[in-house]
Amino acid sequence: MDDIAFVALGSNIGDRERHLADARSRIEKISGVVILAESMVEETAPIGPVKQGPYLNQMIALGTSLPPAELLARLHEVEVLGDRVRTARWGPRTIDLDIVKYARTTWNSPELRVPHDEIDNRDFWQRELAELAEVMI
Ligand code: ADP
Ligand code: MG
Repeated sequence: MDDIAFVALGSNIGDRERHLADARSRIEKISGVVILAESMVEETAPIGPVKQGPYLNQMIALGTSLPPAELLARLHEVEVLGDRVRTARWGPRTIDLDIVKYARTTWNSPELRVPHDEIDNRDFWQRELAELAEVMI
């Protein structure tokens, strides 16, 4: 485990708590990944132009030996297992998994930017990162 990845979980369709819990247990089974800490789950208003219900959000800290592109591929598999259907960008979803940042790694490709482009614009991500930093000292 040579780095720490901060991953945001979001759900706004169906049993949102269940979707977050299922995603956490699937993430825990990814080879080369361990969950180090979990933030509280919080409800937030949807962002963007699509009319949709409120989200439950949570951030988790992962100890990982996977580079960002490989972690994203594994997270996409977890989204598919969580019945994620890709419709509109910003649209409603059973489960959304975003890599918010790595402690020691950046990435910049057409498919993946780490830190995530929205990191400075989402108050709840900042809150959750601060909460994780506190429990991980
Ligand atoms: P949203 O932007 O609402 O999370 P999607 O989950 O559909 O929408 O993501 C769209 C695309 O964003 C993904 O297919 C992925 O290639 C790309 N992407 C770029 N940077 C990141 C990141 N840091 N974490 C997750 N996805 C990312
Ligand atoms: Mg996403």
